[in-house]
Amino acid sequence: MPLVVKKFGGTSVGNIERIREVARLIARARDKGERIVVVVSAMAGETDRLLKLAYQVSPSPVEREVDLLLSSGEIVSSALVAIALNDLGYPAESFTGRQVGIVTDSAYTRARIRRINTTRILQALDEGKIAVVAGFQGIDEQENVTTLGRGGSDTTAVALAAALEADICEIYTDVDGVYTSDPNVVSQARRISKISYDEMLEMASLGAKVLQTRSVEVAKIYEVPLLVKSTFKEGGGTLVVKEVPELEKVVVSGVTYDKNQARITVTQVPDRPGIAAHLFGKVSDANIVVDMIVQNVGEHGLTDISFTVSRTDGKKAFSLVKAAAESIGAGEVKLDENIAKVSIVGAAMQSHAGVATKMFATLARENINIIMISTSEIKISCVVEEKYAELATRVLHEAFELDREPEV
Ligand code: ADP
Ligand code: ASP
Ligand code: MG
Repeated sequence: MPLVVKKFGGTSVGNIERIREVARLIARARDKGERIVVVVSAMAGETDRLLKLAYQVSPSPVEREVDLLLSSGEIVSSALVAIALNDLGYPAESFTGRQVGIVTDSAYTRARIRRINTTRILQALDEGKIAVVAGFQGIDEQENVTTLGRGGSDTTAVALAAALEADICEIYTDVDGVYTSDPNVVSQARRISKISYDEMLEMASLGAKVLQTRSVEVAKIYEVPLLVKSTFKEGGGTLVVKEVPELEKVVVSGVTYDKNQARITVTQVPDRPGIAAHLFGKVSDANIVVDMIVQNVGEHGLTDISFTVSRTDGKKAFSLVKAAAESIGAGEVKLDENIAKVSIVGAAMQSHAGVATKMFATLARENINIIMISTSEIKISCVVEEKYAELATRVLHEAFELDREPEV
């Protein structure tokens, strides 16, 4: 009997009727003989609601307590799905992350899974039950509750699939697969039926939130086949697998945007060895990831440095850099939270000239100013003003003709 991990996102369990519908979907799969581990997100909007409560109590809530608070959202939905399954006559048991032995590091709000003890889940499966696991959470070595970062239930599902050596991990969501761009922004976006781990990883890390980046990393390492499909309609789907030879012909395979971005600029930085290490050391010591970095050509022994971090980390990074800038005698430090990153992704980009030029010209035609640029073998990203994010995504999708089926 195949072992399948099925993950349902927030919209899929967004209200009681949908929870019942999800239970019916699971029941049908059970009737076909699948052994099933379900992973659920919190009901749509619940994580944001809880987070808002924390910020109403304090402008800088302690992260350990935030994690315990947020973990409750997934506990509610897992219990409700298990109740619905039992009501349909399908024995099911819900579990918290802790109960199914998901042990993480202690990086609250962005913890990483270290190991999973599958005993309890396997026991439930052996008893013929459906295991329903609360996503997004674990405990650290000291048994503090941790969460895995926004969208983290995807990672719970993939990590469980890897630990259980499941046949497949199915991600059920509110769209019927991975598209060439966010289908809710670009109406012309086309569903991709098969995509490689590497391209999916790039799309996810550049803003396609349909899968959490970490979940794709874990899927790639353990070669877990991933299937993204709709909870609400049959058919469609996107398979994420190791290699997709047909795709090698596509120069640009997707356009993404990411509004969770902030830019920090430090002016009049003394232009001498060790300064960058000092500034960025303070930021990385706080576990904050720096993305793009631009350093201007120095004049009179001084230079300007700009870099981007996720907007969630913006204020924290700003205060760290401000302190560091003062200690090295730099000038002003500025925080700009009104930016977005727009990217084009494609495995074959490196072997094609003119892709970057086309991207810049397309943005120029719409009068969209490019604030920063970064490139790699497989993507080109531009930072633009946040208000242009959707427009830029649409015009790039059109310019690279992503609505057309690639010729194979
Ligand atoms: P869930 O709650 O099921 O985890 P998410 O909201 O996290 O769902 O992810 C699904 C959403 O991802 C879609 O509604 C869509 O707007 C967005 N999305 C962004 N980029 C893409 C893409 N390239 N393909 C499909 N969906 C995308
Ligand atoms: N509920 C969490 C969030 O909103 C985790 C998830 O949905 O995957 O980010
Ligand atoms: Mg999600």
